[in-house]
Amino acid sequence: MRNVRVVGVRTSWRTVADGEFFCPDCGGDRNYLRRAGRRRLHVLGVPLLARGDARPVLECSACHGRFGLDALDHPTTVRLSAMLRDAVHTLTLALLAAGGTASRTVRETAVAAVRAAGSADCTEDELLTLLAALAADTGPMTGTYEAATGGHCGHQGLDPCGTALAIELHEALEPLAPHLAPAGRESLLLRAARIALADGPCTPAEREVLATAGAALTLDPDDVERVVAAAARGTRYRG
Ligand SMILES: [Zn+2]
Repeated sequence: MRNVRVVGVRTSWRTVADGEFFCPDCGGDRNYLRRAGRRRLHVLGVPLLARGDARPVLECSACHGRFGLDALDHPTTVRLSAMLRDAVHTLTLALLAAGGTASRTVRETAVAAVRAAGSADCTEDELLTLLAALAADTGPMTGTYEAATGGHCGHQGLDPCGTALAIELHEALEPLAPHLAPAGRESLLLRAARIALADGPCTPAEREVLATAGAALTLDPDDVERVVAAAARGTRYRG
């Protein structure tokens, strides 16, 4: 038998919200209850003085572990997969915009990359339609950029790094970076570089997209160079 303590502080909890999170103890996506607590001084089991609010917690519905609200900073695996899928999709579009879509190998490599990242029903038509819509949004580029790309075949006339696409690239990649190990971030870049390299060496525009992506993924410029060089070697071996 437990004795009733003469004097003590007890916390009464109530549920204020629920949702899904990545439980640090179970290591998976679980439902949680967000619980707010109120502390009261008890004397002989009778609640007397309010002693303020307890720190709110998330309670896992599976293991009943309790965690601080910062547990929500970690995305669920479902959310993380969606972020990865979007990141690859955006990065692929940026590279196609930079390098053009005239090469069939490029188009096939791009579709394969997007499919492998989770958009299993992605088609060439879908990517080309999106690119056309982007070109209509951002308008044709003028001057230096055209010259810099040397009229690369199939070039869409987009400025991949000065426009909405560059912003989208940052928006898609930056939130992902803290949740991926360095190897995971490099592997994203490696797959992207293979698209750029599918029709020959990187153009300056493609290189710029890869550099922007690398920066958004918090990779050092040296590491970006190394990954792109590795992709180039791999592509040559494959060819
Ligand atoms: Zn749990």
